[in-house]
Amino acid sequence: MKFGGTSVANVERIRNVAAHVKREVDAEHEVAVVVSAMAGKTNELVAWCKEAGSHFDNAEYDAVVASGELVTAGLLALVLKDIGLNARSWQGWQIPLLTDDAHGSARVTKVDGSQLGECLRRGEIAVVAGFQGLHGPTNRVTTLGRGGSDTSAVALAAAIGADRCDIYTDVDGVYTTDPRVVPKARRLDKVSFEEMLEMASLGAKVLQVRSVEVAMVHKVRLYVRSSFDDPADPKLGTLICDEEDILEQQIVTGIAFSRDEAQITLREVADKPGVAAAIFGPLAEANINVDMIIQVVSEDSTTTDITFTVPHADFARAKEIIEAGRDAIGYARLNGAEDVVKISAIGVGMRSHSGVAARAFKALAAKGINIRAITTSEIKFSMLIDEAYTELAVRTLHSLYGLDARP
Ligand code: ASP
Ligand code: MG
Repeated sequence: MKFGGTSVANVERIRNVAAHVKREVDAEHEVAVVVSAMAGKTNELVAWCKEAGSHFDNAEYDAVVASGELVTAGLLALVLKDIGLNARSWQGWQIPLLTDDAHGSARVTKVDGSQLGECLRRGEIAVVAGFQGLHGPTNRVTTLGRGGSDTSAVALAAAIGADRCDIYTDVDGVYTTDPRVVPKARRLDKVSFEEMLEMASLGAKVLQVRSVEVAMVHKVRLYVRSSFDDPADPKLGTLICDEEDILEQQIVTGIAFSRDEAQITLREVADKPGVAAAIFGPLAEANINVDMIIQVVSEDSTTTDITFTVPHADFARAKEIIEAGRDAIGYARLNGAEDVVKISAIGVGMRSHSGVAARAFKALAAKGINIRAITTSEIKFSMLIDEAYTELAVRTLHSLYGLDARP
């Protein structure tokens, strides 16, 4: 069982979490619980690190930000004891949950589930601090990136061979799109790992992307469910599972969107070998993730236009890098746009149906929405449009593919 920040936001909420845990223990399950920091805590710790000075050190950053989860793990163990259950807290290094040394966004390399397993067999509930691990060779605490306690939970579930991994959050499952934008959004009963991976990567914030990767590789049955349900009578939420376990497959399962995008266009770039490398090599070296790339076929075969997108936070840095490389690249003008949004439709059914994206282009055109860029892959397509049209575009696609809840 994993509980997110809003589910453990204060001691009263932690008591509610304990009631969910007790229900599973009473049903004779052996339970390991992973907790996040109290809502807002990690942001506060991150801000303190920034305030603390110019000698920014990622290892010390991790030492600070990992502390939020230590508090909630200890508190939940206390509350569980208070209601007569046997429990103890575990910090990441005590398990140990081992990671690489990429402080701030470390990857899990190995989880030794043996000590935890013994604890569970003794009838003791294990309450584990999420988000954190240990880099063995340097003996330092690491963290798994924002939202990383989802990944802690899935990695732990895989390591102890759990029957399932329940991710408790403040919504009761995975929706066809963000219900705040589309009131007719529906909760999905089942989503395949692949679709969930795309949804999470393309903007759905319910799970950390890496947690879905780990679940897919280790085939961990994952439920997203609400801690705000009555602990005595909770719903099961959304199951994330293998494609084969989903009988009624829709062509499009969900619409995701991300406002975290910016567009850069280089005009009149020389159309010759090595130009793309001159643009994207330096961006890659600066760890800037380029997403959509479009190169126009030039008419006179001397110059062309290249458009690409980067995360909004990297827009200024990307522009600087391109401008610094202007001589090597050779272009006439650089245009940028920050008020853009990427809208994506996801569904494994696209593999076997043609014309799925074409219907979207037509529907958006009918609403007067201009598409700036398009990318496709096997089970999704994405379109970059002006941010002002976000709601309209998402609602249009949601209806188009039959995802609206029936009244
Ligand atoms: N507390 C961490 C964060 O806010 C990890 C998590 O909640 O998953 O990012
Ligand atoms: Mg989260």
